[in-house]
Amino acid sequence: MLTKVIDNDIIHKLKAYIHKGDKFVIISHEMPDGDAIGSSLGWYHYLSSFDKKLIKVVVPNIFPDFLKWMTGANDIVIAEQFPDFARQLIMEADVIFCMDMNAIRRVGKLASTLAASDARKVLIDHHPDPENFCKIEISFPEMCSASELVFRVICALGDVDLIDKAAAECLYAGMMTDTGAFTFNSNNESIYVIISELLKKGIDKDDIYRKVYQVYSLSRVRLMGYVLLDKLKTYPEKRTALFTLSRTELNRFRYKCGDTENFVNLPLSIKGIYFSVFMREEKNFIKISLRSEGTFPCNVFASRFFNGGGHKNASGGEFYGTMEEAVKAFEEGLVLYNPNNFEKS
Ligand code: 5GP
Ligand code: MN
Repeated sequence: MLTKVIDNDIIHKLKAYIHKGDKFVIISHEMPDGDAIGSSLGWYHYLSSFDKKLIKVVVPNIFPDFLKWMTGANDIVIAEQFPDFARQLIMEADVIFCMDMNAIRRVGKLASTLAASDARKVLIDHHPDPENFCKIEISFPEMCSASELVFRVICALGDVDLIDKAAAECLYAGMMTDTGAFTFNSNNESIYVIISELLKKGIDKDDIYRKVYQVYSLSRVRLMGYVLLDKLKTYPEKRTALFTLSRTELNRFRYKCGDTENFVNLPLSIKGIYFSVFMREEKNFIKISLRSEGTFPCNVFASRFFNGGGHKNASGGEFYGTMEEAVKAFEEGLVLYNPNNFEKS
């Protein structure tokens, strides 16, 4: 059995929102990952059990091909491609569900529209320190994923029977991707109670693993080889590894959205490395991904040096400047904030 974590008052309020509202928007963060898409679509399938005028998932920009197998993925509104439509949906919604994000700015260019919308906003998230922008805040940083939380919310609403196979697949995918296929942040036994429930809904978890992790292009695999052979720099006395990829390098390997997903975890397989950082050149900024093992909080590093945040062991940020400047900021950060001063576990 799952222990009850969500307050009854919140559940009653949420129930009222769901029953009174007729136009729902489900939104998630920029550069959507498996949990952003999985939790949004899982919640979408659940809401689709009710007779509503409109239910739409909106994301700020494109998401990787390896998430497109999820039922409903093709109907997601990508704001970058349909900005006016996305804004109209947000402005006209009765209720907006904000999934897997803890701050308005995480929706990028949609932030001002989301802030301006009169819709009732509901947060369903597992990041620490949520900003206060939603009327209902369901925030549990101890959950492995927003998808786990969606499952629990539906249970608390008394609607576990309404979770169909499509929803179960999306929620499983979100839980799986946010825990590196249950290799980190996944020691809570409840996770396995939930998986067991999702299996009862008919999901094929092995097939979901294959659809997400075994569909790489040859150029992606070669890019991984290049990174490991030529780009990896280690700072053994800091227990740290860094690699960077410029636009030129990415173009050489015909980079597509999602191709570098999980690369940042690779250096953690080296004995003695507890902190790994990956910098990828985007159009106007450098995207920073950070991962740590044990007690070193990489989200603190991300927020202090890269204008970002996230979870203790998985976080991200952005740097506005050149790659050289980003590396310099990182190396200066390492002096102030040395992972070697923290325990591995
Ligand atoms: P990734 O490295 O996979 O892009 O992001 C890992 C985690 O870091 C995400 O799940 C999210 O929690 C957080 N994150 C990524 N980018 C940002 C960012 O720019 N700002 C903040 N606050 N968090 C981020
Ligand atoms: Mn997440």
